[in-house]
Amino acid sequence: MTNYQEAREELFAAVKKAMDEGLLRISEGNLSMRTPDGHVAITPSGIKYKQLKPEEIAIVDLDGGHIDGPCKASSETPMHTTIMRNLPEVGAICHTHSPFAMTFAVAGKDIALINLEAMGCGAPIPVAPWATPGSAAGGEVTVNLFKQRPNLKAVLLRNHGVVAIGENAEDSFDNAFKAEVAARVYYQALQIGEPIIITQQQLQDAVNTYAAFTTKERT
Ligand SMILES: [Zn+2]
Repeated sequence: MTNYQEAREELFAAVKKAMDEGLLRISEGNLSMRTPDGHVAITPSGIKYKQLKPEEIAIVDLDGGHIDGPCKASSETPMHTTIMRNLPEVGAICHTHSPFAMTFAVAGKDIALINLEAMGCGAPIPVAPWATPGSAAGGEVTVNLFKQRPNLKAVLLRNHGVVAIGENAEDSFDNAFKAEVAARVYYQALQIGEPIIITQQQLQDAVNTYAAFTTKERT
């Protein structure tokens, strides 16, 4: 019998960070990550995050079937497993109802490439078409967008929230956090004027500078 304690602790650490930063409130939003044996650790259904214990994190297979744990997996498990099945490079998913990202999801408006946080998410962060929460369709609409743009790390679910992907649980949280910061700054900038969008040339220069810097560091 596999011991999933390490995977549960890793996902729980990301849940804690997301709570501390205000991305997860009450029981809204859910996080998942792959386990070493090819299953998925996912936050449970209907438990308030403030009361969540690591051992309550559910383990399911890639079709959402229960494998281990005392609790039922999140009601949004079909969205998570659809993404995991279709995008093998995704190690973890952080889905939140964070308020500024959700504001753009409700307005049906992409978050433009306006700062480094947006750049980190591969902005513009697009709005996926409406999908019934809890259905596999939520995964399908996001998979379509992620497949079209390999650098994209976050997608807005229309009238719902945000889905951020990453290599591991912490990385997916980082991307959800960046999406929320980008959304907040973009919203605020829209209140006081016309936000200035980073051009493709400026983006390319930034990517080249970063690549040169990291190459230099390694040698
Ligand atoms: Zn949701």
